[in-house]
Amino acid sequence: REFMNIEAQEDCVRAGTAALDVAVSRAAQEAGLAGLEFYRGIPGSIGGALRMNAGAYGRETKDVLVAAVAIDRKGERHVLTLADMDYGYRHSGAPEGLIFVEALFQATPGDKAEIQARMNEITASREATQPIRTRTGGSTFKNPDGKKSWQLIDAAGCRGFVRGGAQVSELHCNFLINTGDASAADIEDLGEEVRARVKKTSGVTLEWEIRRIGKREGEA
Ligand SMILES: Cc1cc2nc3c(=O)[nH]c(=O)nc-3n(C[C@H](O)[C@H](O)[C@H](O)COP(=O)(O)OP(=O)(O)OC[C@H]3O[C@@H](n4cnc5c(N)ncnc54)[C@H](O)[C@@H]3O)c2cc1C
Repeated sequence: REFMNIEAQEDCVRAGTAALDVAVSRAAQEAGLAGLEFYRGIPGSIGGALRMNAGAYGRETKDVLVAAVAIDRKGERHVLTLADMDYGYRHSGAPEGLIFVEALFQATPGDKAEIQARMNEITASREATQPIRTRTGGSTFKNPDGKKSWQLIDAAGCRGFVRGGAQVSELHCNFLINTGDASAADIEDLGEEVRARVKKTSGVTLEWEIRRIGKREGEA
């Protein structure tokens, strides 16, 4: 709870890392600050956004972050600049052990109604194009340079493809969904099948965007 505070200032927003992305975009809108609308549709907290360089609709965390505050395993406080975050696509090169506790984002004074309208557009577009009301982990594979994963998956004939309780979404084929009783192995096997088919049809090796943790049964 102590890390959920959000404070809008003249041209920036300071947020604790337990604050939800959506709450940060809403607070910015209420303060008449533009630039953080893209957080409207990303399900997660600012901590995850900092680590994953979360982004959508043409903007990502690296475009708005000024600095992040982190605590290391010894309890020491560090202030990381944008350069220190060493951002790449859905990736930060910041040291793994750091726990982010606060972020400072830049924003631009703007018209509240226009900001709200952009947020509404994002919501409408997501609802129309992504299976956000189903059980899904979101985008499964990173977009390869200059290409869209969903197009490669579609071209490989994988739309709607099923493995156990897991399915490639009919609505957006870079989303894998749990149709009821999918195990983690179903999801992973389906993803690997998609990767193999995409490799065969287009020569592109898709990289998982979802971080997989733990071991499979029988795995050393
Ligand atoms: C339906 C759906 C749609 C999605 N759409 C998008 C999208 O458009 N764009 C996008 O970028 N992502 C998207 N995602 C993925 C996900 O929402 C984002 O990556 C989000 O930023 C993750 O935040 P989280 O708080 O859930 O982090 P988690 O998933 O809990 O953690 C992500 C990583 O960050 C680390 N982490 C979390 N908090 C901290 C902290 N305080 N300090 C240090 N490390 C921390 C975790 O250890 C982990 O490695 C989507 C997911 C779903 C399910």
